[in-house]
Amino acid sequence: MTIVRRKTRKVWVGNIAVGGDAPVVVQSMTNTDTADAVATAQQVAELAAAGSELVRITVNTAEAAAQVPRIRDALDRMGCAVPLVGDFHFNGHKLLSQYPDCAQALDKYRINPGNVGAGKKRDEQFATMVEMACRHDKPVRIGVNWGSLDPDLLARMMDENGKLDVPLEPDAVQREALISSAVSSARRAVELGLSPDKIILSCKVSGVQDLIGVYKDMAARCDYPLHLGLTEAGMGSKGIVASTAALAVLLQSGIGDTIRISLTPEPGGERTLEVIVAQEILQTMGLRAFAPMVTACPGCGRTTSTFFQELARDTQSYLRRQMPLWRTRYRGVEELKVAVMGCVVNGPGESKLANIGISLPGSGEHPVAPVYVDGIRTVTLKGEHIALEFQKIIDDYVSTRYGAE
Ligand code: SF4
Repeated sequence: MTIVRRKTRKVWVGNIAVGGDAPVVVQSMTNTDTADAVATAQQVAELAAAGSELVRITVNTAEAAAQVPRIRDALDRMGCAVPLVGDFHFNGHKLLSQYPDCAQALDKYRINPGNVGAGKKRDEQFATMVEMACRHDKPVRIGVNWGSLDPDLLARMMDENGKLDVPLEPDAVQREALISSAVSSARRAVELGLSPDKIILSCKVSGVQDLIGVYKDMAARCDYPLHLGLTEAGMGSKGIVASTAALAVLLQSGIGDTIRISLTPEPGGERTLEVIVAQEILQTMGLRAFAPMVTACPGCGRTTSTFFQELARDTQSYLRRQMPLWRTRYRGVEELKVAVMGCVVNGPGESKLANIGISLPGSGEHPVAPVYVDGIRTVTLKGEHIALEFQKIIDDYVSTRYGAE
């Protein structure tokens, strides 16, 4: 089934296109103190190496703003060209005005209309941020968030709703306020002189059904590219499942031009997990391919050893580790499909459907592992070194199949 993407404008963020005919872009955000330029540049580089095509950093203080050009320089010295997005709240108008090198070093500014001040100041401070974007020729994301929705706007809309003969449910008014905040702020930015081709919108909420409803409405009401993400998705499998459930429905409807998965890292966990999850959502939906994927069965009572689980895990990590090098040498290698199967029940069948598949012996089976290459049984591995030999078969296949292209 083909996904028909919603038609949008195309916005360039540094050298990365978002919207239009561009593929859905993966982005992420650091959790280092931006004032620590060394740690931040290091984490940006790690996120970029994992496949993040845009990386957002918070710019929350004068110290952070002062370090942004240094972070950019450090990344350039590392050969990392990933565009940097500055996340501004409360004092963005001041920081962008007072630190022009910061404003110039960033490739996009995130403006949260709920966090740019109140009353008359809100309009002035929003206008200053838009003026900075125009001056430095940068795009912006007008990023509304459920947790920081403009309280004046919400109060006004609740009042108006209360006067209707048939008032809407408060939730519906809140959703409408989110969309209205994003769309009316974009309109204001254009009135202030920003090109519509410099605007991306987002309206993040933390509930799956709310997110789907908000984005479907917003998509119907503008032609700006949309940044998708379930905010405060949470930790571990809960965060992954909730983000995937929400984003899959929207992406399947053709909505979404860039995605970020807002996972809370486990203590000591890798920040890059959010990049991998984003890539895997897009890849499993057939929207993009980033790295070869391993098809593996869940195992059952027919596989009593852990060897099968270890081989599936090690093969997937090996494929990911190779990608920075393979990407430069072997065009199309990200489409490679590998199967690691636990026994003879589905092993040979699934292995034949992959480019390379191995069917390990289940309990009570003859201890040999037939390998299938492009559907044909080629060798049978056995003994201590099955994992290494299987890896070598993958390497040979990759250099032969993708090296010549
Ligand atoms: S392929 Fe074999 S080991 Fe894997 S789940 Fe199926 S029956 Fe169990």
